[in-house]
Amino acid sequence: MQIAVLGAGSMGHGIAQVSAMAGHEVVLRDIEESFVEDGLAGIRENLQGGVDLGKVTETEMTATLERIEGETDLAAAVADADLVVEAVPEEMALKKEVFADVEAAAPAGAVIGTNTSSLPVTELASTLDRPGRAVGLHFFNPPHLMDLVEVVIAEQTDADTESFAVDYVREIGKEEVVVRDSAGFASSRLGVALGLEAIRMVEEGVAEPEAIDTAMELGYNHPMGPLELVDHVGLDVRLDVAEHLREELGERFRPPQELRRKVRAGKLGKKTGEGFYVWEDGERVGTSGGEDDE
Ligand code: NAD
Repeated sequence: MQIAVLGAGSMGHGIAQVSAMAGHEVVLRDIEESFVEDGLAGIRENLQGGVDLGKVTETEMTATLERIEGETDLAAAVADADLVVEAVPEEMALKKEVFADVEAAAPAGAVIGTNTSSLPVTELASTLDRPGRAVGLHFFNPPHLMDLVEVVIAEQTDADTESFAVDYVREIGKEEVVVRDSAGFASSRLGVALGLEAIRMVEEGVAEPEAIDTAMELGYNHPMGPLELVDHVGLDVRLDVAEHLREELGERFRPPQELRRKVRAGKLGKKTGEGFYVWEDGERVGTSGGEDDE
């Protein structure tokens, strides 16, 4: 089928890649030529990495790249689409505008998916004249390596759209979980709850971050402990999500002071070199001292 992916950033280029690898014709759209080029370069790099590891053949790589076309014009990108997946920045106003523009230019039967990680899909769907064709397709980063896609069912999503979305996820070799549209869907709600509790445990002096992470890695078979994961995600990003979940779901998602202190001190995790751990050249080299000046 023909798929239009809107936004060629971290997520969009990966969604385009996994769709094309499954044999779909893909148009990857961004607002500037250079962003489209960056996205296409990211796909080439991922595929070359796969070839180097022996997981992708040269033939598959060439065929995948041939199925992806870059585009800056929205109407041209969606004109023949059976499925549109938007992966533009996480702003409700922008996504609503994109949804409305897509509906005006895409075929009447096209399914319109959003990769939002936190916004209500029901509210986005309500911008459409035919909201039954809206659905959440929540991929995980990086899409070419992560197996899960949450299929988020808005109040308006109709049964045909739901089964279309589930079939698409399976066709691209991913596994779906179907969740009703609600704050944090299934994944963020549980993942954030665990991360916040781990931070409270650090605050209370229950154990060092490394001990808490090791407990989950060895005791519960998590590939990465909750505090190291927060460092990867970014403490600022985690704080924003926690605030949103607190607003929607209540005080149990209240962000711990320790999280606020670190964010105020600019200790945002791996990207700034310190969060709950100290990072150098992308490697964990120690545990943060904790004396966070405000
Ligand atoms: P990003 O900033 O890396 O990429 C967004 C891209 O969209 C940019 O290249 C930008 O130029 C482009 N863009 C802006 N307006 C556009 C428009 N009108 N049409 C087409 N493209 C437009 O962002 P990202 O991390 O890829 O996130 C995209 C979406 O995916 C967000 O909703 C985010 O919440 C969600 N998401 C992100 C992650 C993650 O780990 N990064 C994981 C799951 C879901």
